[in-house]
Amino acid sequence: MLTPPGSAVDAVAERSQALATSDHSYAAAASRYEEMPFVRTGRSGLRLPKISLGLWQNFGAETRYEKSREMVLRSFDCGITHFDLANNYGRPYGSAEETLGHIVRTDLAMHRDELIVATKAGYDMWPGPYGQGGGSRKYVLASLDQSLARLGLDYVDIFYSHREDPETPLDETMDALATAVRQGKALYAGISSYTPASTSAAAKLLREYGAPLLVHQASYSMLNRWVEKGLLDAVEQEGAGCVAFSPLAQGMLTDKYLRGIPDGSRAAAAPSLDQAYLSEENIAKVKALNDIALRRNQTLPQMALSWVLREPRITTALIGARVWSQIEQNLRALDCLEFDETELAEIDSYATDSGINRWKPPLDAPAAEARS
Ligand code: NDP
Repeated sequence: MLTPPGSAVDAVAERSQALATSDHSYAAAASRYEEMPFVRTGRSGLRLPKISLGLWQNFGAETRYEKSREMVLRSFDCGITHFDLANNYGRPYGSAEETLGHIVRTDLAMHRDELIVATKAGYDMWPGPYGQGGGSRKYVLASLDQSLARLGLDYVDIFYSHREDPETPLDETMDALATAVRQGKALYAGISSYTPASTSAAAKLLREYGAPLLVHQASYSMLNRWVEKGLLDAVEQEGAGCVAFSPLAQGMLTDKYLRGIPDGSRAAAAPSLDQAYLSEENIAKVKALNDIALRRNQTLPQMALSWVLREPRITTALIGARVWSQIEQNLRALDCLEFDETELAEIDSYATDSGINRWKPPLDAPAAEARS
């Protein structure tokens, strides 16, 4: 059980008032490692918490700082040590890194060695030809320097190539990641949303360059199962881990869209959750999955996370959140990670690819090695 009476989450709840009122006297919960399971990332020595927090939405300058701070600190108090960023997270771009940097400086400085801070470079970021994303050495290394400045850190723990760039030779991008590791600006290298063939090619290059591939970050949920078609095999073969992002399909795997689009939800506010994804067919699947979750005494987001984590090659489920209560609820997924065969078979009849994967790489493109 993650949250028996008197557990870490309860202890954190008692302090919510202090956090919400800008009282900067944070002291980490002594119980923070009591409940969270940690999992080895592929064949590396690094262990990640089964649930990690991403700061893509709701952590930039568009969100009240105290709200973001509360989510980060209370997560840390529950054993979430892994915080995921990218250069372009937050509005304006970069502001989510600034938020986390501020929290680390003011609240978590003495806990830096307990944190895994990840960032990425791959999408458009600054004006001119060198800031438009992709995988050039110029862009990737300049972006990392900018991220470190915004975070106020000497190094990040994981530095990712955020997407495959068909116009840049793969060895140029992988050499840039390995350079970051050699320079001590990143401890580990990762890639995100690469095809299976390019993943294998990237891992081979990174090994040659002395910075083995730690992890592939890929979208994965009950409504988006592309990783099962070769990517997880490639990742396993290379000894890397897999971080599953958007495990709740950006919030579709909750009951919030069963009766329309509520104000303040991501579908109402953010273009990333295209309202076309909320088709009648998809909502019928969500409703059926919700019924199965209730029979398991879970909420749908809890079951969605348990389901992602049932796959042994998934190292961690990387969730997002708008408010602390969502994280608090989602953490309870860890109370019930087991499925029986009947449940899995029933889930399989509704958990099918639903046309919502905006990050899917072109799987029929030639392998990056062949292109480069
Ligand atoms: P999720 O699928 O976990 O969606 C999170 C959203 O779901 C929340 O913001 C909230 O949206 C809703 N939600 C969460 N819990 C609940 C709950 N218990 N009840 C009701 N609604 C809930 O993940 P994200 O899409 O946010 O992605 C997670 C992270 O993955 C990102 O922060 C980022 O770090 C990473 N990522 C990486 C990408 C890559 O290219 N490598 C791309 C995208 C994400 P609402 O506002 O509707 O309440």
